[in-house]
Amino acid sequence: MYEYAGNMHIHSSYSDGSLEIMDIAAKASRAGLNFIIITDHYTLNGLYDAKEGYQQNVLVLIGMEANETKNHYLCLDIDKEVKNNNENPQVVIDEVNMQHGIGIIAHPFEKGSPLFADGINFPWTDWNVHSFQGIEIWNFTSQWKDHVTSTLKGVFLIFYPHAALPGPCPQALAKLDEYQCRGEKIIATGGSDAHGYSMKLGMFHLQVSPYETSFKCINVHVLTELPLTGEVKADREMLYAAIRKGAFWIGYDYFIDSRGFRFSIQDNDKSWQMGDTVPLSRHLKAQVVTTAPARVKMIKNGKEWQVSSGKSHIFSNIDPGVYRIEVYHRYLLGYRPWIFSNSIWVE
Ligand SMILES: [Zn+2]
Ligand SMILES: [Zn+2]
Repeated sequence: MYEYAGNMHIHSSYSDGSLEIMDIAAKASRAGLNFIIITDHYTLNGLYDAKEGYQQNVLVLIGMEANETKNHYLCLDIDKEVKNNNENPQVVIDEVNMQHGIGIIAHPFEKGSPLFADGINFPWTDWNVHSFQGIEIWNFTSQWKDHVTSTLKGVFLIFYPHAALPGPCPQALAKLDEYQCRGEKIIATGGSDAHGYSMKLGMFHLQVSPYETSFKCINVHVLTELPLTGEVKADREMLYAAIRKGAFWIGYDYFIDSRGFRFSIQDNDKSWQMGDTVPLSRHLKAQVVTTAPARVKMIKNGKEWQVSSGKSHIFSNIDPGVYRIEVYHRYLLGYRPWIFSNSIWVE
């Protein structure tokens, strides 16, 4: 398998981000990313202006974020703009599906902060929807804002954003499990939602969600069977196919890069990856590899099932269900959430 690190929720100057796509790609390159997905509000103008492609060795892909007042929806792998429908997000979901795109419910439980725009927030309000492809469980900017409860805390979090990001949003994770336990093969995503804007916070003028810092925090690591070729169209297809399937994990890469993590289920002669469906057999075991000693939780059908410590982990007694992995690395006197995998289904 080949591994590519990327960030998949980013705003540029085509909407309310502060930098042009070219400059964002340069920052992604410095942060060591292989690809980024730009998702500007209500527009695909970046795509229409032919900004997709390799820049400084980073593959830049362009999707969009639909909806304004609530029910924000990331629309990837599409070529026509999707119209907003704040009140009936199912229409937006259906439009992405008509284009065979990938649609992700963004920051569904955002709370907002009294210090930003009178506490305005953009949660997902309609859970009667169906046929979407994913839920964003970990969002740098949104969760950062949720924690800014006072000016002083805001200033502290500018210098130490990690304190506001102690893991994926618990309600979003619970929603993911709820859908998956119903047998719906939806994917979990995470991203920066970087805008790089400066804000006045009391007497301070500060950079909120800076691109380069947030590109070192919540990233996705995608696994492909073949290496990327350097040819935009082929590589775009390969990456989107792997994302659609769920062949990736979300890593908080700031303290320890999650590169090299692996989660598979194996029998005597075959191995399945995240996103795969495994036919039940008698000899199934799950294997997890982390590049640093860590605490690994195997989550089965939404509940903690087995825990293991170290760098290499084997879980046996695999029977039908949906399995995902949570990894925590050592940090100060305790542990920090590090890696959240996509799921493997056993039938
Ligand atoms: Zn949003
Ligand atoms: Zn956004």
